[in-house]
Amino acid sequence: MPYALAKWSLRDLFPGFDSPELQSAFDQVEEQIMSFEGVRAKLNPEIAEDQFLEVVRASEATSRIVSKLHAFAGLSFAADTQDQAAQTLTARVEQFAAEAQNRTLFFSLWWKDLDEQNAQRLMNASGDYRYYLEEIRHFKPHTLSEAEEKVINLKNVTGSNALITLYDSITNRYVFKVEVDGRVRELTRGGLQPLVQGPDAELRARAYQELLRIFGADASILGQMYQTIVRDWHNENLSLRKFSSPISARNLGNDIPDEAVDTLLNVARKNTKIFHRYFKLKARQLHMTKLRRYDVYAPIARSQKAFEFDDAARLVFDAFAAFDSRIAQLARRVLDQGHLDSEIRKGKRDGAFSWSVTPEMAPYVLLNYQGRPRDVAVMAHELGHAVHSMLAEGHSAFTFHSSLPLAETASTFGEMMLTDKLLAEESDEAVRRDLLFKQVDDAYATIMRQSYFALFEQQAHEMVLKNASVDEISAAYFENLREQFGDSLELSDEFKWEWVSIPHIFHTPFYVYAYAFGQLLVLSLYQQYKAEGDSFKPRYLKILSAGGSQAPAKILADAGVDIRSAGFWQGGFDVVDQLVGELEKLR
Ligand SMILES: [Zn+2]
Repeated sequence: MPYALAKWSLRDLFPGFDSPELQSAFDQVEEQIMSFEGVRAKLNPEIAEDQFLEVVRASEATSRIVSKLHAFAGLSFAADTQDQAAQTLTARVEQFAAEAQNRTLFFSLWWKDLDEQNAQRLMNASGDYRYYLEEIRHFKPHTLSEAEEKVINLKNVTGSNALITLYDSITNRYVFKVEVDGRVRELTRGGLQPLVQGPDAELRARAYQELLRIFGADASILGQMYQTIVRDWHNENLSLRKFSSPISARNLGNDIPDEAVDTLLNVARKNTKIFHRYFKLKARQLHMTKLRRYDVYAPIARSQKAFEFDDAARLVFDAFAAFDSRIAQLARRVLDQGHLDSEIRKGKRDGAFSWSVTPEMAPYVLLNYQGRPRDVAVMAHELGHAVHSMLAEGHSAFTFHSSLPLAETASTFGEMMLTDKLLAEESDEAVRRDLLFKQVDDAYATIMRQSYFALFEQQAHEMVLKNASVDEISAAYFENLREQFGDSLELSDEFKWEWVSIPHIFHTPFYVYAYAFGQLLVLSLYQQYKAEGDSFKPRYLKILSAGGSQAPAKILADAGVDIRSAGFWQGGFDVVDQLVGELEKLR
């Protein structure tokens, strides 16, 4: 039977909004939490292993039901964002889950506080829960007394959190005025996005100039907020919590060793030339003598070829099967069980995602399939996510989700498998070009741009502590861009204000490198696959099957990958280098 565009069925979760099953799930969680609150008295350092394990199992059982409730509400809302029942249920589940979390918080607090010897004794008896338990304790050496933690929490509400809220309030009310088709339009930042990525070169320039004009006009106040956030980060994480550097506080959250991140950023710095070649190539495609910074996200004329949904699905399955038949079978299961929502409907959420609910259930996947070559790549990407979590089904609800640094492994790898297959078989140059440009565009935006943001953040944190002014920080940012782009494109002066327009570096310092880490990791694994062929496959499947049951560095080390080695990261850049080489061959 051919596969057709379809809406998913959520029956595997709950029959409907008014179903008794849904109400009874809420009741069940309520009951389980009441009984969980009863274990509070039993918690003591000498607790027996089997009793402890019972407590963890009970908390896992509750989290499974909460996860199904979350998924049902969230997926219903994604399927129809105008559906009031879905909106109401989402709000209800969120409130319910927050209260449940507060009532069970005592367990993780007790666990974090427990002495090392007893903690080891209990972890040794915890089987698959081990890493989940270990992770809760990671911050123990950087945790202060309860009274101090309380003061920090309270002061954060009116301190750094308030500054971040203020940053959002100020920047979200900006109105950008851009002339479109002879008429001045007033746009939000979201509304500028299609212009920045649009086909009209003049409009791209005007959109960027207006964006940076508005942010630049407020740079002194936004920059002052940034300086305060940085000082707060330093006071809390270095002075009080004794982290060795500003970035290592974030690294511990990601459970990645400091040296691995340093190595990654150094290697990125040595590979800017690959993207310089790419920007020169892009200029030729756009019939420009030199690319401007405004044109980095300009679209390349796209192929007219459309893929029927059934053909696309089979292409993806074939590409997966060429690697391992199990991967293809798992991907098929998502479609066969009605867990894929592929059609375009009014009110449905944009974009694409894969949502893992519990280890044994096939994930739900949302696409907005339009038949373009890149839509086929997105299908391979999201089904890759789904396969990743299905391969980890042997783990608990706490440990089957891959951790952040490994989260994009199967998805990007799946996309690469498909691209390889299409490049090998597709004779239509426009299709080949479309796919290759998508790969390198993504690689630029996730790897190089984010690495340079992280490098800038490191520098800015240092500068602020040495009392640098906002203008000095902006000048340093401009130098950072100059290093990144070389002379491959024209960089106009107003880009020195770009940094005050990046919410991530205000909200979550050093978060950005995780994007580069994940993407580059996959490319490097792919390089190993190309070099080693079949012998690589069991190692790769082992990485995926581990889910989130061990530290990322450990999972990768078991598969023979050393994330502290520069050679490993260089392998990822070599893949991008080859993709750019392929593009250079196309006329
Ligand atoms: Zn993804």
